[in-house]
Amino acid sequence: MPTLAERYAAAFPTSRARFEEAQGIFPCGVTHDTRMMEPFPIYIDRALGSKKYDLDGHELIDYFVGHGSHILGHSPEVVVKAVQEQMAKGTHPGSCHELEIEWGKLVMELIPSAERVRFTGSGTEATMMALRLARLFTARPKFLKFQGHFHGWHDVVTVGADFPYESNAVAGVPEEIASVCVAVPPNNLNLVEAALKKDDQIGAVILEPTGGHWGAVPIHGEFLEGLREICTRRNKVLIFDEVITGFRVACGGAQQVYGVTPDLTALAKILAGGLPGGCLTGKAEILNFLEPRPGRPKMRHPGTYNANPLSASAGVACLKQIRTGEPSRLANEAGRNLRNEFNAMFEVNKLPWIAYGEFSMVRVIPNSTGERPGMTWGDNDGYIPFGGDLNKLDGPKSAKLSHALRQGMLLQGVDFWGTAGMTCLAHSAADVTRTVQAMERTLAWVTEEGIA
Ligand code: PMP
Repeated sequence: MPTLAERYAAAFPTSRARFEEAQGIFPCGVTHDTRMMEPFPIYIDRALGSKKYDLDGHELIDYFVGHGSHILGHSPEVVVKAVQEQMAKGTHPGSCHELEIEWGKLVMELIPSAERVRFTGSGTEATMMALRLARLFTARPKFLKFQGHFHGWHDVVTVGADFPYESNAVAGVPEEIASVCVAVPPNNLNLVEAALKKDDQIGAVILEPTGGHWGAVPIHGEFLEGLREICTRRNKVLIFDEVITGFRVACGGAQQVYGVTPDLTALAKILAGGLPGGCLTGKAEILNFLEPRPGRPKMRHPGTYNANPLSASAGVACLKQIRTGEPSRLANEAGRNLRNEFNAMFEVNKLPWIAYGEFSMVRVIPNSTGERPGMTWGDNDGYIPFGGDLNKLDGPKSAKLSHALRQGMLLQGVDFWGTAGMTCLAHSAADVTRTVQAMERTLAWVTEEGIA
């Protein structure tokens, strides 16, 4: 009997050939760290709705959804049409244009805290701008973040983003730059209060408002409310990084769900309808540091692709759908169903695994023997295993198991990120059922091979 890896290699020969070619071009053969996969990644030809189609002709139910940038599914007609129309009119005039106004107005309409908007090229640029503006506004160089929270890949935010969380040493980031960041464990307001009290050079607090790495360790409203109170009392700029949660968990992001108003919000992904783009939005008195005003410095902000018309056309078409409330409602429903059906399958098979997550974000925890929390049924949003232990929920993972899970799922027509995935409006009940069946068989295979 061939192994899982051998069956995978046999089923995806064209991807294997392309990867061999790519290895001579790209470090690791890939163009994004999380696209690495053993023994090779799959190469996609096209995508539609909840499905992707690879070069070997497989139809794959997709839970990467463009790194979270799709909520309408792949290639939604309204977005494709809008981009095609704009494409014919020009891709980049390097000038002001009407679509950027429409796009900015939609952000102001949908995001509760939006008083001003500035478009950027990506989410990374949006959090970089947030922190720089906060420095100007507060005249303080440092900021506080939470361990396990990801805000892109510019120097200062890489501190504490990944395991080992306590380490300030990030490869390629000088210590003096990393030292502007103070990272504390999430969900503990006392630690926040203590850190701010100890270091009055901290001017801002940034977080992923539903929890780091899109909810690996979920964060709830009470913590957000507590942070808001602390930041207001201590005059700190509160920054929500809603690059994933914005327009996903609800039209107005996590700030709408929890009724907590940040000072600044970083957005990207769904904002640009699956094309590249981001923005920073929030309080006018902070964003106004982008304007020249007498007696104070102006933050410079160029950026070739800021509000480029193709992204603007996709963003406008997408946000008009978001505005109806249906995309987030349906994506959340698919996420909840997937978590429930995974848990039901684990229970039936007496497998020590658990599915958890919130909104349209789904995670499975492998082999939680001995410490496995009880199963939940029904509305499973809000359930946090292991009392929210960062190391257990987001800590080191077995790369071997993740690759084996991905291979097994792909062999059955599902592209799940090892132990996590995101849903979109296009994921049907049939997709969910097929995904759970694929996981059931995959777990049997990995157990047989002694990988799980
Ligand atoms: N913040 C969060 C929460 C993200 O998930 C990401 C990207 N995954 C970013 C920032 C960075 O966005 P981008 O990849 O567009 O630079």
